[in-house]
Amino acid sequence: MSIAVTRATFDEVMMPNYSPAGFIPVRGLGSRVWDQDEREFIDFAGGIAVNSLGHCHPELVAALSEQAHKVWHVSNVFTNEPVLRLASLLTKLTFAERVFFCNSGAEANEAAFKLARKYAVDHFGPEKNQIIACKNSFHGRTLFTVSVGGQPKYTEGFAPVPGGIDHIPFNDIAALRAAVSSRTCAVVIEPIQGEGGVLAADLAFLRAARELCDEHHALLVFDEVQTGVGRCGSFYAYMEYGITPDILSSAKSLGGGFPIGAMLTTSAIANSFTPGTHGSTYGGNPLACAVALRAVEIISQPEVLAGVKRRHQRMLAGLRAINARYPVFKDIRGMGLLMGCELSEAYAGRSREVLKAAETHQLMVLVAGPNVIRLAPSLVIEDLDIDEGLARFEAALADFS
Ligand code: PLP
Repeated sequence: MSIAVTRATFDEVMMPNYSPAGFIPVRGLGSRVWDQDEREFIDFAGGIAVNSLGHCHPELVAALSEQAHKVWHVSNVFTNEPVLRLASLLTKLTFAERVFFCNSGAEANEAAFKLARKYAVDHFGPEKNQIIACKNSFHGRTLFTVSVGGQPKYTEGFAPVPGGIDHIPFNDIAALRAAVSSRTCAVVIEPIQGEGGVLAADLAFLRAARELCDEHHALLVFDEVQTGVGRCGSFYAYMEYGITPDILSSAKSLGGGFPIGAMLTTSAIANSFTPGTHGSTYGGNPLACAVALRAVEIISQPEVLAGVKRRHQRMLAGLRAINARYPVFKDIRGMGLLMGCELSEAYAGRSREVLKAAETHQLMVLVAGPNVIRLAPSLVIEDLDIDEGLARFEAALADFS
């Protein structure tokens, strides 16, 4: 017997660390979602930059159902075909020669930070353990990843936190230069700070980071959990910049909605992990890898990546036109289909109100902090859905302003 549930059930039985919207989505198709009352929403949120091919993409449904009839889970005591195929494809598409799989972005970063420390200890000794990260960055919610993350609000109340981590202002080359030394084992950067407000790294900053890491035998770690797998119009954002990291973390779009994370690196660095050094029961799960494999096969096609750039232009033109009629934003920015609209001073701190207004007009959007509306729709969203979504966004802004 199925139990009747409503939004009120959430407040009765769920931990209060979330405050979800007032409606409950029950099904989705492409960039449309329907709630319990059959109200139809347009999805510009994409499950927080996860649903790279929209909801229930037929190819992903087929990959999942096919694998569901074969084998669901074997653990890393045994390997499986989907994980090997996915790792082979990711190494073919990127700088990487080795892949570690896990279940989320935080876990991919956790593995990346541990590997960077281990590599430094193995090759240079225990003093080389400093991790340099950026203020305002976000790397996940485990204790290590919130500590590397540059938003103190996420570590408050959780002390003592791991040490050996220093933060510099994002895009500040002088501060980076002053911070990096022979003690540094890793410099960790999001090519575009997602949660921090959709702020892109300057090419010169990434170039300086690469040079300083090389000079001091430190590893350059790119957190591409949000920017990766087509989100920014290249398969990974590092390709757009032309700056190659030593370790890259990936998740979100990788699984198209099925939970999976990955850490990518070179063979030389990977060798610092040996059997037993690190692990995950579910990492490399056949169901997750079968879905991710199909998602990667589709998203890595040049025409799909070109489609992301074309859709960016359409979204950008639409958002600018809306802002001309309802001037609430002082900046509209982003790369590919990771876009941010920053509220002007007159509306500062009110991004959640815009999200609420959008909900009223049956549009799902995200915020990135108190001042930025974030949009991360499906990478294959139909033009019709973009246009309809933008019309709803305009109606929401009309109410809001
Ligand atoms: N890194 C970045 C850049 C992210 O945007 C996120 C999630 O928003 C994470 C890491 C954490 O990923 P997850 O929530 O899958 O653990």
